[in-house]
Amino acid sequence: MNASVITETLNTPVLDHYDVIVAGGGASGLIAAVAAARGGARVALVERAGCLGGTATSGMVAQYIGLFNSTVRCVGGIGFELTRRIEAAGGSDGFRRYTLAEASANPVTIINFPFNPEVVKIVADDMAREAGVDVLLHSRVVGPLMEDGRVAGLLLENVSGRRALRSRMLVDATGDAVIAAAAGVPYVGEEPELRDKRQPLTLVFRMSNVDVRAFRAIPRERKRAIALDGLRRGQLAWESLSFCSTPGDTDAICLMSRIHGIDALDGAQLTRAEQIGRQQIKTIVPFLRENVPGFEKSVLAGIAERVGIRETRRIVGRHTLTTEDIVGGKRFADAVALGAGPMDLHEAGGTGVDLWMPPAPFEIPLACLLPQSIEGIVVTGRAISATREANGGARHMGTAMCLGHAAGAYAALAASGQATLENPAVDTLRQVLRSQGALISADEAVAAADENAVQARPA
Ligand SMILES: Cc1cc2nc3c(=O)[nH]c(=O)nc-3n(C[C@H](O)[C@H](O)[C@H](O)COP(=O)(O)OP(=O)(O)OC[C@H]3O[C@@H](n4cnc5c(N)ncnc54)[C@H](O)[C@@H]3O)c2cc1C
Repeated sequence: MNASVITETLNTPVLDHYDVIVAGGGASGLIAAVAAARGGARVALVERAGCLGGTATSGMVAQYIGLFNSTVRCVGGIGFELTRRIEAAGGSDGFRRYTLAEASANPVTIINFPFNPEVVKIVADDMAREAGVDVLLHSRVVGPLMEDGRVAGLLLENVSGRRALRSRMLVDATGDAVIAAAAGVPYVGEEPELRDKRQPLTLVFRMSNVDVRAFRAIPRERKRAIALDGLRRGQLAWESLSFCSTPGDTDAICLMSRIHGIDALDGAQLTRAEQIGRQQIKTIVPFLRENVPGFEKSVLAGIAERVGIRETRRIVGRHTLTTEDIVGGKRFADAVALGAGPMDLHEAGGTGVDLWMPPAPFEIPLACLLPQSIEGIVVTGRAISATREANGGARHMGTAMCLGHAAGAYAALAASGQATLENPAVDTLRQVLRSQGALISADEAVAAADENAVQARPA
């Protein structure tokens, strides 16, 4: 017997049987679950955190971007509805014109949707409950349940122990392709040569009692000088003073830490990332208080529950989205979601960011969400089939929501026997998405830009 390996025999109780199970309740998974339920499916949503929302809530990344390409809205349907609900619940003052990475060498001005992540947690609960989704929190998905070569459910572990849930269709919205990878769907992102090439991680923190308006009024050149000074002194982690505002402009939710060389699929490295992030915050906070106008009286009010991860696995699906698709404005007969950008690739090992806006909204086909051969599963969010560079423009939460809408609607169709890998029922799916307000054609989104416009106040 090999002393370093033990063999376990498990008797795992089957909890229930659903039409659709969504693994991961982030931007994409929440919308996928609501879409599948509205499509008539009985749906379970399984999330390892104590709340829904994903990187927006547990990771405290408190602004949705990817909803607009320039002034053209690219997100409709359930994703846009989520923003309306958050605003109505007092969790946001609405859309703003915001300069991303303003103190960096190449900032980009976009329309964002900043919010208070605590309100997003409540709205996400409401939307899931109203749609009739069975939510299971504090439940880590540990693998697929496979039957006859197809995904037939998942295995999870929580305080009750290890359990199985059966599904007709499974939506992998974990961001890490947890189920897809274990089910045998080909993927990239774990290659040893990627070590030191992956984008850095960021542990987000919240400062209260900030005079956000005083900070925003500082000219960009001064912000850049402060940021470079902080870097020189070793007190800042990158050349940016990026933060999201909350309603009332009293809090700054800061994306200022930067943790390099981490494989976020390695438990020990992920632990180290959290610790390094907190060490960085320890030096950034006094720097802000002492050197940055608006932060003089600020206090550290919170640190995200989880470090933010930009890059892990991506499946190799039926089509791999490329930068050429995005820049060339490729049209797809099976387009089911629109990307807006910006293209956003953080420098591995360095302090810069490659940030630019694609010339127009871009289409994402269903083929990027579907495995080549394994039935019973559709993948959404950060782990869809895209090159590393294209993923830099398709991983924002606005885009993750559109993808989730498509994945959930597809899963409901497939669970009821109306769609298969061989015949994905693209026309029916696109009809369903359109009837639910989703934007799926780049040309139509551009044509409807005025009609779909929103008021966007200055940041
Ligand atoms: C530091 C940082 C800054 C960013 N800035 C922005 C920004 O300003 N605006 C923007 O729109 N986007 C931003 N992004 C990108 C964006 O947040 C993500 O790409 C996006 O959240 C992807 O959506 P998702 O639904 O695929 O993943 P997530 O939102 O990460 O959701 C995945 C969910 O799956 C759950 N999960 C994972 N594994 C398991 C498991 N085994 N069992 C159960 N549940 C599991 C997670 O807990 C999580 O809730 C940023 C990302 C990072 C890391």
